[in-house]
Amino acid sequence: MTAPRWEAPSRPGALPCHLVDPEVFFAESPADVEAAKALCVGCPVLEDCLEGALERREPWGVWGGQLFIGGVVVARKRPRGRPRKHPVAEPYAPAAGRQGKEAAA
Ligand code: SF4
Repeated sequence: MTAPRWEAPSRPGALPCHLVDPEVFFAESPADVEAAKALCVGCPVLEDCLEGALERREPWGVWGGQLFIGGVVVARKRPRGRPRKHPVAEPYAPAAGRQGKEAAA
């Protein structure tokens, strides 16, 4: 049995991204992207890595614990597929003022 590709084996002095499949840092899956970002936490060169990626305007991937798309940092990778065309209705919740009147009656 092999370890998941995003689970970094320990090797003193090695950078986390040098210990796992590099594809994790360029993954399509939002879960894998978050796993790659988590691997960067605690990296001794995180700040330099992020600064370099910002300067180079990296087009893609996780660098310095951040996800880059199109040269800028984005908070989260959106899953594939189109967004909903019509918003989902929220469950009905009566207004607080109306509830108060009903309770007083
Ligand atoms: S911060 Fe940069 S060097 Fe460190 S693990 Fe992440 S991608 Fe690799």
